[in-house]
Amino acid sequence: MKRDRNVKIVATLGPSSETHAMIRALHEAGVDVFRLNMSHGTHEEIREKHRIIRQVEEELDSPIAILADLQGPKLRVGKFANGAVELENGAAFRMDLDTAAGNTHRVCLPHPEIFQALVPGVSLLVNDGKIRLRVEACGSDFADCTVIAGGAISNHKGVNVPDVELPLAALSEKDRKDLEFACNLGVDWLALSFVQRVRDVTEARELAAGRAAILAKIEKPKAVDRFDDILEASDGVMVARGDLGVELPVQAVPPIQKRLVRRCRAAAKPVIVATQMLESMIESPMPTRAEVSDVATAIYEGADAVMLSAESAAGQFPVQAVQTMDRVAIEVEADPTYEQIIAASRSVKGHSVAHGIVAAAREIAETTDIKAICCFTQSGTTALLTARERPRVPIIAMTSLRGTARRLALSWGCTCLMTGELERFKDAVVNAARATRKGGFASGDDQIVITAGVPFNVPGTTNILRVAPCDERLIYRTDPE
Ligand code: PGA
Ligand code: MN
Repeated sequence: MKRDRNVKIVATLGPSSETHAMIRALHEAGVDVFRLNMSHGTHEEIREKHRIIRQVEEELDSPIAILADLQGPKLRVGKFANGAVELENGAAFRMDLDTAAGNTHRVCLPHPEIFQALVPGVSLLVNDGKIRLRVEACGSDFADCTVIAGGAISNHKGVNVPDVELPLAALSEKDRKDLEFACNLGVDWLALSFVQRVRDVTEARELAAGRAAILAKIEKPKAVDRFDDILEASDGVMVARGDLGVELPVQAVPPIQKRLVRRCRAAAKPVIVATQMLESMIESPMPTRAEVSDVATAIYEGADAVMLSAESAAGQFPVQAVQTMDRVAIEVEADPTYEQIIAASRSVKGHSVAHGIVAAAREIAETTDIKAICCFTQSGTTALLTARERPRVPIIAMTSLRGTARRLALSWGCTCLMTGELERFKDAVVNAARATRKGGFASGDDQIVITAGVPFNVPGTTNILRVAPCDERLIYRTDPE
């Protein structure tokens, strides 16, 4: 679907957005990628959402990416006899492996591995970091803590342990089942929660075995420390500000966001900025000024995508939230300051022919009146390199592989169109001309740039750049063969 912006919108589906009418409305309003949260819902419910997305994709003939977000090793406390207790500052509180219901003195933390990693002095954070406990003494099945910041703690609240590297794989037993289910269903991206090390990513990649691209959620201090290696091993990244802002002081998140977004662009891998972007729109049809500014900031930084979580999954105004992001993006991208920032952060990296060609394509498009850059791509790499250039004209990624088209829906500026299998470069030129005209990207005597690798269907061969009219009759005239 032709959008009037380059940055992409990811929307999480949930109870507020599970009907065909709503999912279609969300896509029409601007959603490029739908996120299925594997922490919620049964496989049957997820299968149904997946079916509807694919149906909408077919109805509108517009490739849509589906991102399955695996829960990861999310730690939770057990139950309380009365459902909840109030912890007072300075009180003693114990976490242990006893499955008996909790009270004001103790509760179960059913994760034996955690107790092995704890040492006196580290913090345990409960309920999105609202409650802070300091470990005073611990053993293989308990941790005696002091309440540093008290509050209400209730059944199954989440626990974060930011100070130590947890001896947990990023994929729990549930995650492995969910991964297999999602891959068989046919998702384009798998997001891994609480990644701590490269091994977490490579393990998921082995299990996915090419069926989905791998996106690492950066939400642990360890993942920030090891970011370059994790990025290298991943196909994309999410700056998961929710848990990141619990595991680290909240004020540490904006500088990390800026740094990660830049590195991802330099590596030509898509990056999503996520969580609380339009939080107030869960209940209000109007965002706050601060939220609008936050979405704008992520776009100015050059993020590939901005994300809605509860706003679209459980909020009252999912479509309005998407429209808000769409309008903010159009406004930011029209701002000359945006272009300056994007140009100033363009990095020169890579010395391959493909790098040279995509840089030249941008240069030609921007210095003359070219309407679009059409790149023929099978693996998607040429489109990713072109997106990294952040050209001022639309990028049309043309591919015969549906999976590639769908995956690229997450990447900045890429409009993805399907082509048949191509034999000759001439066919590619004609195809590109037709597609750009039909898609409303060019008309009349407009010209386009076409990049491709010949022979076709050999990955990593980008070696041709052609400027051509978007009118194929002219191509036949100038180029009879
Ligand atoms: P979550 O991840 O919504 O799955 O927790 C995003 C985040 O932590 O920001
Ligand atoms: Mn998270």
